[in-house]
Amino acid sequence: MKIEFKKVPSIQKEFSIKLDSVEFSGTFCKIAQNLVKLNTTIVGKLSVDCCKCGEEHTIELDESQEFILSDGELSSDKIKDDEIVIEVENHIIDFDEILMSELESIRSDYHVCPVCQENDNYVDVEY
Ligand SMILES: [Zn+2]
Repeated sequence: MKIEFKKVPSIQKEFSIKLDSVEFSGTFCKIAQNLVKLNTTIVGKLSVDCCKCGEEHTIELDESQEFILSDGELSSDKIKDDEIVIEVENHIIDFDEILMSELESIRSDYHVCPVCQENDNYVDVEY
């Protein structure tokens, strides 16, 4: 799903897209001429690699994230700490691309599979 920056309304509009078993939904609206605010939730299942044994396993996603989309470069004094700013290219907001990069960053987090978690607990009890 793509939308032109200038077509984003200044009242909140809902969106929802799906990728495999992941649903990316929320609202977006224009907050300044070159800024769009995006309130999102990502819900679903994602397969990730265990950082201990490398086995692929599935995690349940339920994440909320706020994004600020900037049409072109944004001066850093306008950015709050808890906001993720994405600079949009070609004046087009691409929701699929935002979701893909979010999933990539979740995948690159530290994940431990249930088996390794079990082993960790066992070790903790033993020593
Ligand atoms: Zn593991």
